[in-house]
Amino acid sequence: MHTQWEAVIGLEIHTQLATQSKIFSGAATAYGAEPNTQACAVDLGLPGVLPVLNQEAVRMAVTFGLAIDAEIAPQSVFARKNYFYPDLPKGYQISQYELPIVGKGHLDIEVDGQSKRIGVTRAHLEEDAGKSLHEDFHGLSGIDLNRAGTPLLEIVSDPDLRSAKEAVAYMRKLHELVRYLEICDGNMQEGSFRCDANVSVRPKGQAEYGTRVEIKNINSFKFVEKAINHEIERHIDVLESGGKIVQETRLYDANKDETRSMRSKEEANDYRYFPDPDLLPVVVTEELKQQILATLPELPEAKKQRFAAQYGLDAETAATLTSSRELADYYENLVKLSGCEAKLCGNWVCGDLLGALNKAGLEISQCPVQSERLAGLLKRIADNTISGKIGKQVFDKLWNSTLSADEIIEQEGLVQITDTAAIEAIIDAIIAANPGQVEQYRAGKDKVFGFFVGQAMKQTQGKANPDEVNKILRAKLSN
Ligand code: ADP
Ligand code: MG
Repeated sequence: MHTQWEAVIGLEIHTQLATQSKIFSGAATAYGAEPNTQACAVDLGLPGVLPVLNQEAVRMAVTFGLAIDAEIAPQSVFARKNYFYPDLPKGYQISQYELPIVGKGHLDIEVDGQSKRIGVTRAHLEEDAGKSLHEDFHGLSGIDLNRAGTPLLEIVSDPDLRSAKEAVAYMRKLHELVRYLEICDGNMQEGSFRCDANVSVRPKGQAEYGTRVEIKNINSFKFVEKAINHEIERHIDVLESGGKIVQETRLYDANKDETRSMRSKEEANDYRYFPDPDLLPVVVTEELKQQILATLPELPEAKKQRFAAQYGLDAETAATLTSSRELADYYENLVKLSGCEAKLCGNWVCGDLLGALNKAGLEISQCPVQSERLAGLLKRIADNTISGKIGKQVFDKLWNSTLSADEIIEQEGLVQITDTAAIEAIIDAIIAANPGQVEQYRAGKDKVFGFFVGQAMKQTQGKANPDEVNKILRAKLSN
């Protein structure tokens, strides 16, 4: 019989914490500075220096732990993970091993309309390494230690994921959460949020897991999905042709859409972990925990449900509007400032606004049309000064200028014609000029009605109130 395979996946996600300074030194963490201008004696691992723990990193780790309903360790311990690499001048990375700051928690994902709870095994604090630069050095490599010592929270999931799709859903959920919590900027291009994916397969129904492979450092949602799918296929091919999977670390090559072996899997004992004698245990008091709990923002799931209930939005709209804190704030501001119906506001944000942002490749934080200006436009649609259709034109102009909606409407003379007598006069002229179409309509050809509406809108440059046009046309044509 043909074997049915099941994939088993666990993710290790490295989030760079958005602290101003490094985890054990006062050097800045800002991205993009000239190489080696943000690495101090501690980051360089010079002899005689001592690390001092950045309490902000601790606060952020605890914030995350509380948001996923995890156990927070009253005491956790930093350990040295020893290995050699040119971007690690100390010869060891300070990490947490046996006692991480965040213990077991969970995150709910949704795939194909089904909710599923994914276990988080642990999350621990550690320092990032520097970077090796392979370009511009004529066959040599350069080392940039600006990133060395940047605080990371490594979030390890249980092997609960069963497909690339679930893995991506989990990663997105986590990405959304750390940004809500404002503990990570989430910038994946700059490496602020990166993922190692552990993948294995087993015959469906088998209880034990198969041998796993770890794919390192994937920095986009698309690549995570591709790399995992590719790896699942490879495992099945190897196993079905009678081979064995070797436990190893692999790299995903996005250009070739394949993974290749990097090194055989190292064991924990290769690293000679031991508690760092330069650092005291990290203590999180009950008081600190309560303090942080009290400042926790409304979380994405709660916000989504509130939006649906409070604004009468469908689930999809509520999910889109709460996909980031900035967008949710934008929407709530818009509702408040415009005084318009919540649904109308939702349609404009999810439709025109997100469409324009997407097209321009911009984030909501970079949006050229602030909520105040969009509110000004929606007010004029709501009070019938302009039609919804003209509203779209005004929106384009809002996008490309700094004018207010009222200024644009005034300058362009876009005020809707609601004067019934004026519309009637135009319609009378159209009817008189098109006796053929009138006859067709009266003979039962309903489609011709659209022609008359089109003519009326054209002659008024779209400014006639469409409801009025329809009403008057129906009355006059049925005479
Ligand atoms: P290590 O520290 O060596 O990377 P861990 O035991 O901490 O190993 O596991 C790392 C990740 O691998 C976790 O996310 C875990 O869920 C996942 N994992 C463990 N075993 C398997 C397996 N057989 N198949 C897929 N993922 C696995
Ligand atoms: Mg690992």
